[in-house]
Parts: sequence; C-alpha cells; structure tokens
Amino acid sequence: MAQLLSNQTCKSCDNNFAGYYCNVCGEKVLLPTDRSFKKLLSDILIAITFADNKMVKTLWLTVVDPGFISKEFAEGKRVKYLQPLSLFFVLNLIYFLFPLIQLFSASLNTQLLSPYRDVVKETVSHKMIAMSLRDVQSFSVIYNLKSTGFAKLMVMVFVVIASLPLNIFYRDKNRYFTDHVGYLVELACFNLFVNTILLTFIVKLFGLGHYLDETALASIFLATNLYFLLRSGITFYEEDGWGIVFKSMLMILILKVALEVYRAILFFVTIWSL
Ligand SMILES: [Zn+2]
Repeated sequence: MAQLLSNQTCKSCDNNFAGYYCNVCGEKVLLPTDRSFKKLLSDILIAITFADNKMVKTLWLTVVDPGFISKEFAEGKRVKYLQPLSLFFVLNLIYFLFPLIQLFSASLNTQLLSPYRDVVKETVSHKMIAMSLRDVQSFSVIYNLKSTGFAKLMVMVFVVIASLPLNIFYRDKNRYFTDHVGYLVELACFNLFVNTILLTFIVKLFGLGHYLDETALASIFLATNLYFLLRSGITFYEEDGWGIVFKSMLMILILKVALEVYRAILFFVTIWSL
C-alpha cells in the first residue's frame, strides 16, 4: 500500500488533499486494511487495556529515561508518543481504582496526620456538629468518597504549584512556562506509575504489606524522586555538576511542600462541598 493517494476529498470536512491524512482536520483515509479483522482485534485490545504502543513506549521512557519525553515535547517531536497529560489521566484512573498508597488521594486519616492536623480536627468537629453526625467513622466514609472525586481533577493544582519554582531555577535554559508544567506532568506520571501502581503490585505480589510503614514509604519516595530529578535535570534542563544535585535536593523539598498545599486545598474544598 505504498502508492501516494492524490485528489482525496475529506469525509469529515470536504477539504481536497493528497496523501493519507486530511491536512485541515487530520481525518485518515480509510483503506481496505483498516477494515480487516486483524485491525478490529487490535482496536479491541487497545480499548480494553488502554495500552497502545504509544502509551507503553511513553510510560517506559518516563521510567528509564526521565525528562526525555518532556524534551521531545518541548522541541515539537510529539506524534511518536502519547501526550503526557493523557498518560497522566489514564494512570490516575488506574490509581484511583486501588488508592492503597496515599499520594494524590488523601483520606481523612491522612489529613489527620498532616502538619495542619489541628486545623483539620477543629474543622471536622465543627462540620460534624453542623451535619449532626456523632461518630467519625460515618463522617470519614462520606468525606473520603467526596475527596477522591475532587482529587482526580485537583492533582493539576499540585502540578502547577510545583512547577512554579522551576521558572526561577532554570530561567536561563530557554524553557517556556508550559514546558515546566509539562515536565511536572511527566514527574506526576512517574510517581503514579512507580510509587503507587507498581509499588502496590509488588507489595501485594510478595506480601510485603507489613514492611511498608511511613518511613519505608518516605525512603522509597525520596530515592525514586531523586533518581527522576537528577536524570531529568541532565536530559531536560541540560544542567550539570553540583548545580543539578543542589537543585534536585531543593526540588524534593518543593515537591513535599506542594503536596501538602495540594492536600490542604483538597481538604477545604471537600469540607466546603459537604
Ligand atoms: Zn478534513
């Protein structure tokens, strides 16, 4: 099927063009092979698993070569990969099916252990009186359901907050504001996949649940994020030497703060909506 198609009329927008894709709306010319049974089977597989080649490739590169996808996108090489934001929402969907490890979801229990726990306690008790609820259990069920719903959308708050300092750290690196945000989306994808989905899978598979306390989790988060920041700092920002070490350490702190700010906003939005 190597002959070039000429004089095609687009089925979607009536534009005249040559080639396999409409140059106005992007519609593809349907070829006999597009209607084959093999193509149907592969479409079904993609629809069930969400995982087409682009997605697997993009996810794989995010893990083994952090910063590469952000670099490709910033430089306008995009068609070979899944948009990181789309990858992010797919991973988010999987994550919120089993939110065992608290990262972007934050149950009432997690909120009660946060640095602003005194405010949380006070606000919750006021709210419980207003709703005439007596026990924390039933309140926490209602709360967690609402909070999970908001969390899926509000993770973007975390992404934007955490990307702000990058505009200062790497202001001489010729990157746009949206490039920094895209980079943070890649970091969020990395964390969702490695530190929640993959980690949950490994812990369940080998029955390591009782080893996974707060200290173990914090160490894993620290190590994996340092790996991501160091590697991607070299690849995406072309930073080297001590600069990259220093900026990565600082970014770890910023990620921690951004996560707490995000969780605090999530808490108040959830309370306000009840
Ligand atoms: Zn068209």
